[in-house]
Amino acid sequence: MERIRIDRNAAAAVDEYLEYRRIVGEDDGGKLFTPEEYEEYKRRVLPQRLRNRLYVSFGVPGGIDCKLVGPETPCLCSHRYKQHQTDFEELPSERPLALPCRVRGCGCVSYQYVHLCGSQPVRCRCKHSARDHSEAAGHLCRKCSGCTGFHSPYTCGCGQPGYAHETLVETRQEREARGRPVGRDVPYAAMGGLTGFSSLADGYLRLDHSGTDSLANRLAALRTREEEDMAYFERRYQERMKMEREAKRKTSRSGAKPQPDHCRT
Ligand SMILES: [Zn+2]
Ligand SMILES: [Zn+2]
Ligand SMILES: [Zn+2]
Ligand SMILES: [Zn+2]
Ligand SMILES: [Zn+2]
Repeated sequence: MERIRIDRNAAAAVDEYLEYRRIVGEDDGGKLFTPEEYEEYKRRVLPQRLRNRLYVSFGVPGGIDCKLVGPETPCLCSHRYKQHQTDFEELPSERPLALPCRVRGCGCVSYQYVHLCGSQPVRCRCKHSARDHSEAAGHLCRKCSGCTGFHSPYTCGCGQPGYAHETLVETRQEREARGRPVGRDVPYAAMGGLTGFSSLADGYLRLDHSGTDSLANRLAALRTREEEDMAYFERRYQERMKMEREAKRKTSRSGAKPQPDHCRT
């Protein structure tokens, strides 16, 4: 019987590339590092990344985290979180912590999440889309003169209007002080607020126990690039668990022949 076979070497190369991309993010400027540059990059950046990890969430002050920002989450400026400055050698002491966009020509001075409706950012009370507003501070509308700055009346799943929400950038200590999860240390770039596999679901989705139907509908609505993040971290987690199980089995029955269970069927 004919069956599609996955070349284990090719699959490993893809995994290696994805791992590289998660770690380096956009820091190689689009040109792959040499193995030496990659090692040097990891030596230099990973310790500071673990020390200075920033957590980015979006919600009404004092309320739940309605949204945890991940690498692919878009900003009001239209660029993704991973395209903003997310690593710091030394953390600035001023608050709020500003994470400027690194895309050339973009005037965004700090990452700012905007509610999405499907894949589109919501509208302002001036009726124009968030995208029609300047990315520079003040966020004035480019299409009308009456707008005093982007102000979204959209009702969030938490019941509060969009304009009552803020993007919060905080350090590990600050997040812990608020009693919020900080997750495990990860070497990946631009993790933002992601601390677990269910982080990507909106806050109200995580809290919702009202029934499987609405849950299924809301999960279907999450089919975005962000979902790929979730699948990726889930897969790496499962791989690590499997390696740990195998390592345990090997030590408990040393001398036994290797198990064929890492073959894909
Ligand atoms: Zn930008
Ligand atoms: Zn931005
Ligand atoms: Zn407006
Ligand atoms: Zn307008
Ligand atoms: Zn909300």
